[in-house]
Amino acid sequence: MGSDRARPLQRDDIAPDERLRVTEIFLSIQGEAASVGWPTVFVRLTGCPLRCRWCDTAYAFRGGGWQSLEQIEDKVAEYGVRHVCITGGEPLAQPNCRVLIARLAERGYNISIETSGTLDIAGLDPRAVVVMDIKTPGSGEQGRNRLANLDHLRVTDQAKFVLAGRADYDWACAFVREHDLTSRTNVLFSPVAGELEPRDLAEWILADRLSVCFQIQLHKSLWGNVAGR
Ligand code: SF4
Repeated sequence: MGSDRARPLQRDDIAPDERLRVTEIFLSIQGEAASVGWPTVFVRLTGCPLRCRWCDTAYAFRGGGWQSLEQIEDKVAEYGVRHVCITGGEPLAQPNCRVLIARLAERGYNISIETSGTLDIAGLDPRAVVVMDIKTPGSGEQGRNRLANLDHLRVTDQAKFVLAGRADYDWACAFVREHDLTSRTNVLFSPVAGELEPRDLAEWILADRLSVCFQIQLHKSLWGNVAGR
């Protein structure tokens, strides 16, 4: 009986509308976006339909384990912090992610959801802040951007460009201008680690007087590029 209790949950052990496949749940310092620096519980859901060239979370493409929404909520509560980030992979690839966001928001957490920008963000719980990627040419997934999502970004949300070099930077500047993005939402520019020198990006932003927020991944400065951090 003891071993039965330790058995990992199988997909069919949990009702379809109550389960999510989870790669990891962990406590760290939020390393990017507007809530950078806050102690945050990260819920990393498994799976992603994209393959960005510079992806640093490929270990979340597959594997993980099934958990009920209640188990996830309990695990989040154990850490005792206010900020929760739902990430992946692409968390919205699992429809129950929306239910989890609503249930965590109901409990009063400050929620952010990190999404690739290629799946529909309409109808997400408005209490969650959306941090949405705009995929650049350097990612190899530029063609997947869902432009209709731009109409759902609010001034409290964030549109994030991860830039691999000057060509991505020029493309992002043109995209921001074309879609008047800085008047719709907060725009973040972040360098791909090891490909674009952060100082170069900072200099370009200053030279062009861009109204965008320079980002660097704080958690990688603290712990390096490791899972669970
Ligand atoms: S969307 Fe995110 S998780 Fe998916 S491949 Fe791109 S960087 Fe990786």
